[in-house]
Amino acid sequence: MRCYCVTKHNEPLVAVDTETPTLEGTQVLVKVTRAGICHTDLHLWEGSYNLGGGKRLDISDRGIDLPLTLGHEIAGEVVAVGPDAGASVVGTTCVVHPWLGCGECDTCQRGQENICLKSASIGVFRPGGYSEYVVVPDPKFCVDIGDIDPSQAALLACSGVTTYSAIRKFGEVLKDVPLVIIGAGGLGFMALSIVQAMGFKGAIMVDLDQTKRDEAIRAGALAAIDSGADDAAEQIIAATGGGAMAVLDLVGAEATTSLAIASVARGAHIVICGLYGGELVVPLPYIPMRPLHIQGSWVGNLAELRELIGLVRDRGLRTVPVVERPLETAFDSLMDLKQGRLLGRVVLVP
Ligand SMILES: [Zn+2]
Ligand SMILES: [Zn+2]
Repeated sequence: MRCYCVTKHNEPLVAVDTETPTLEGTQVLVKVTRAGICHTDLHLWEGSYNLGGGKRLDISDRGIDLPLTLGHEIAGEVVAVGPDAGASVVGTTCVVHPWLGCGECDTCQRGQENICLKSASIGVFRPGGYSEYVVVPDPKFCVDIGDIDPSQAALLACSGVTTYSAIRKFGEVLKDVPLVIIGAGGLGFMALSIVQAMGFKGAIMVDLDQTKRDEAIRAGALAAIDSGADDAAEQIIAATGGGAMAVLDLVGAEATTSLAIASVARGAHIVICGLYGGELVVPLPYIPMRPLHIQGSWVGNLAELRELIGLVRDRGLRTVPVVERPLETAFDSLMDLKQGRLLGRVVLVP
């Protein structure tokens, strides 16, 4: 099988041909039909994350070894199973849940592999989807997508489950109050569609960019507010009728989280999902006196991906512009993403 690997950071991906793996235990082999290219892939290729304030997180310190086959947004078909996997899953058209852990610790046993201390995420710590085939450790991680378009389904494994998991953390309050979404990029529009599909009250989108704010209104946002305006917090307070009860910060910068804190009502809940970086300084008495609930959210777990796929199968979701390109273009496409030359997401087709 052919895969495209990072063999050295910041150098072209290398096409590597290997034997198709022999499956053990509960492993299954998925023939990749779509593999999305994501900003995370770019960080893995570069070898570091920007933490803000001039600090960088070197990924080799996190146990990510080369060569690495990138790709964690995978749709495909189960074509072979290990001796303990159960043959009935062969032929399933699926999206692969990539956010795996060790499978054994208490966190994993609680179904929260995505935050296991020993991450084994596909396309990060183990070979991913820029490949003809990918090995998945257990059939339970292959979620049946039925007739969902596989290119759209692949994206649900990353931006989809990330925003779904964050939105779920607010709970039922979103039936009654608007969700304020900071950051109208790919994640922001995914979050807006999920809020709409779940039948919640709706979303107020906050972004610096006028074009994105206009697009947000066209997509059905209740309001769109310029985060760069001097009175952005007052505008959010007015639009929410006295202060936001639920804010999703998809940027995660000092300025955006500070704006969130300045815009909320008493008893509000802020979920931070973005990784832009920087530091947050909050007067401690604010937290008990308001009282504030500030929470982080990191990708999502298998149960959440299953729920999301169910939601999309039942209710549908606004589609994201996708460009399908051959697997051979993996490196060129990654560079197009780096240079900002793409309108929409690239999904590789082996
Ligand atoms: Zn991704
Ligand atoms: Zn674990």
